[in-house]
Amino acid sequence: MKSWKFLLQPPWRHRLAGMVATFAVLLLVRCASVPELDPSTCIEVAGRPFPIGTRVVSWREPGGYDAYRRGKHFAPDEPPDGKLRYSPLRGNLPDAIAARAEASGLELADLQQVVHQFVLHYDICGCSRQCFKVLQDVRSLSVHFLLDVDGTIYQTLDLREKAHHATIANDFSIGVEIAHPGAYPQPMAAPMAAWYEKDELGWRQKFPPWLTETGIRTPGFVIRPDRPEIISGTVQGKVYHQLDFTPQQYAALAKLCAGLSRVFPRIRLDAPRTATGAIVDHVLPAAELRAFDGIVGHFHVQQNKQDPGPALQWERLLHEARALR
Ligand SMILES: [Zn+2]
Repeated sequence: MKSWKFLLQPPWRHRLAGMVATFAVLLLVRCASVPELDPSTCIEVAGRPFPIGTRVVSWREPGGYDAYRRGKHFAPDEPPDGKLRYSPLRGNLPDAIAARAEASGLELADLQQVVHQFVLHYDICGCSRQCFKVLQDVRSLSVHFLLDVDGTIYQTLDLREKAHHATIANDFSIGVEIAHPGAYPQPMAAPMAAWYEKDELGWRQKFPPWLTETGIRTPGFVIRPDRPEIISGTVQGKVYHQLDFTPQQYAALAKLCAGLSRVFPRIRLDAPRTATGAIVDHVLPAAELRAFDGIVGHFHVQQNKQDPGPALQWERLLHEARALR
């Protein structure tokens, strides 16, 4: 049998060297090439896509929710009312950033200095379609993200815009409205009972008869809270009762938190804590709120708000988001 050593003799030696070199170049080219971004799982910041690994429906897509629209979304035949639902510039900008932003809009590097909070809301609408209808068509307000019961995220504005969702935090925050019926002072009294029914597996969310179009994208989706029991807890010094968010919402929210923290390094994956390390369950003094870098609930921003309510599993969310960072 012929020895393999013939490969080390000319002309085989040269052919082998050529093959090795070609293979090395191909390997380098492959490693150096940027992987193709899947736009259906990206958020958009200052005109650039950033992958977060879960479905994000852009305002540009059919079926998306467009907060740039100067009119009602659900009455397309009505003439636009001309009202801006957001602000193209954030306020209280450092002078150097303000001058540049005035001329050409906020850029990613500016935003990374300015944006330092992610505000969690629940929408009391039960689904993102209804939430956008109320924000856009009724109240002329806005929020960057809607998180539906099936875990679908909708982005309504580029994050360079200031959305109108959390009063004094709007200038330096990004907001999400999580689809949910809300927290109530009495468990399963009339306002809460309108949203839930029980089957052999426990509580599941339903929709009141007047809400006929939910827009939920997953066909036949059953809205099952992550924990089967009613959760009771204190917000702003009062006890509220609430069913949990869905597992699909927790999974998508963790990815959104992690993605935002990658894009905006000032958004730390932590929430306001007491001296003993518990999550603060009430409004922060304004100066303390402004100084905080991380994830907050709407109730940390405003005394008159309870959302996202006592059921939100903060530690679980932060733990899962950190693992994805
Ligand atoms: Zn809110």
